[in-house]
Parts: sequence; structure tokens; C-alpha cells
Amino acid sequence: MAQIDDLPPLRDVIARHELSALKSLGQNFLLDLNLTARIARAGGPLADTLIVEVGPGPGGLTRALLAEGAGKVVAIERDRRCLAALAEIAAHYPGRLEVIEGDALEVDIGRIVAEQGGGKQARLVANLPYNVATPLLVGWLRAEPWPAWWASATLMFQREVAERIVATPDDDHYGRLGVLAGWRTEARILFDLAPSAFTPPPKVTSSVVRLIPRETPLAVDPDVLERVVAAAFGQRRKMLRQSLKGLGIDPATLLAAAGIEPTRRAEEIDVAGFVRLANALVAGKTKAP
Ligand code: SAM
Repeated sequence: MAQIDDLPPLRDVIARHELSALKSLGQNFLLDLNLTARIARAGGPLADTLIVEVGPGPGGLTRALLAEGAGKVVAIERDRRCLAALAEIAAHYPGRLEVIEGDALEVDIGRIVAEQGGGKQARLVANLPYNVATPLLVGWLRAEPWPAWWASATLMFQREVAERIVATPDDDHYGRLGVLAGWRTEARILFDLAPSAFTPPPKVTSSVVRLIPRETPLAVDPDVLERVVAAAFGQRRKMLRQSLKGLGIDPATLLAAAGIEPTRRAEEIDVAGFVRLANALVAGKTKAP
């Protein structure tokens, strides 16, 4: 196994700090330094950019990011038990690692980047806790203003979630996540990791996904887009003239305004189509008496 720094092996760190993995916190640790280095490199370029890591745990990926040349890493960790191990890494790389104890769903990362990013966007790199990975991503995709505080996101998900993120029309995995991610980013799966790469091994394969924000996504109110997408995929096998009932406007009128045939199904509609539907919904409601 590669030696990337003079810090003790991760297994020793975990044993010394008694960091038995907690399922409730989605803890599946990466101890293979070749793999952590590969993810860190995929998240780059790392120099001259603030790197934000969610869930550093015992610090395997954090160490890789620093050893691979990240100028500054801000890491947000919810598990207090990990803080002493992370403090050792911070001491080894003076001034280059700041650990924030907290729930990444609550922490205002945009503000941290505004204060510490030197006027530049940050890069997100993380082996995400699977139990909150989707809400975290949705929050980052819906960030306002846009372009957001992040210039790229290189994130580990369960393979099944990764497939939903990169899905396009006529793909079985296409749904809310695919529309949202496709609207604001270009997303692709970089590589997979077998369960055996983690300690303890999860039940499923994992994938590293890279999302690059679009500078100018199609203009639409995200809340309305989400409403339309939720209605359409809520009954994904039904024709849109049926599934879009309940939006408070006649589906036939809405679909005609968006230039979409009423017999189409949600899984056939691309991001541009959903944006047209959302904008037609806003226009239709504004016109309504
Ligand atoms: N980065 C480490 C690695 O690759 O070995 C740990 C990854 S583990 C899959 C997920 C980490 O996220 C755990 O350390 C867990 O404690 C932390 N975590 C879970 N929920 C969190 C939350 N809401 N906010 C911040 N960290 C969280």
C-alpha cells in the first residue's frame, strides 16, 4: 500500500481513537491510500483552490487531498469521535486543514467559501455518508445564486444513486435527480468501487461521480421545476395529460404551451422539456383570473 505521508496507518488511527464505524452516520471508511489518492486527483486541480470535504471521518481522503497538493481543505464532520484524529492531520499540515464539527445539511458552506475562498469557487470532494448523500446533493444543485460556490463536485455515491444522477430520458433511472443534475450540471460517473474497498464493506457497489456546473442553465424557478417533475414522475408510467393533473392548470393547455404531446410520459421528456413545462405553468397561472 502506498505511503503518502508520515502519519500513522489509518487502521492504527482508527484503533487508537476507537472509531468503530457507525451505521447511523453512514460510516464506511476508505483505508486504501491508492484509492483515496485516485479520488483526490479526480477532484482536482487541487492547488490554489479551497477544497470542501464532507464527512472526513478518520481522514483517509483528507490526507490524500493534502498529500496531493490541496492548499487548504475545510472538512465538515458530524462525529465528534473523529475530531482528535483529524486534529493530528491538521497539526501535520499546519494552516492547511480546518475541521468544522457539524451537520453538513445545516452548515452554510457558501458563507465559508465566501470568507475563505479568496474570491474563487471551491471544489467539493467527498466520500459521502449514504444516508444523507441525496439531500446534500440536492441542496448543492439548488444553490442560489448560480453559478454557485462550487466549481466542481467529485463525490462518492451508491452506484444506484450515481445512475440516477447521470440518467437521461429513456433510461430506467431517469427521474427527479437526473432532471435536477442535468439542468444545472454536466454529470458523469468516473469509476466504480467494489464493497471490499471499504471498512466495513457496504452491501452495494459505489461510484465516484463528477459534476461540473453549467454557467448558464436554462432559466426557470427551481421550485416550479421540482413541482412539475414530481408530478410527472409521481406516475411515471402514465401519460402526461394524466400525471400532470393536480398542478392547478388544465394539463392539455400546459402541454400545448410547452409544445409537448399529451401522450408523452415523464421518462421521455428531456430537461429542456421540463423547463418549458415549468415556465408554461408560471405563465398560465399568472394569466389565470
Ligand atoms: N471520508 C471518510 C472516508 O472516505 O473514509 C469517511 C467517509 S464515510 C462514508 C461518511 C462520513 O460522513 C463519516 O465520517 C460520518 O461520520 C460523516 N457524516 C455522516 N453524516 C454527516 C453529516 N450530516 N454531516 C457531516 N458529516 C457526516
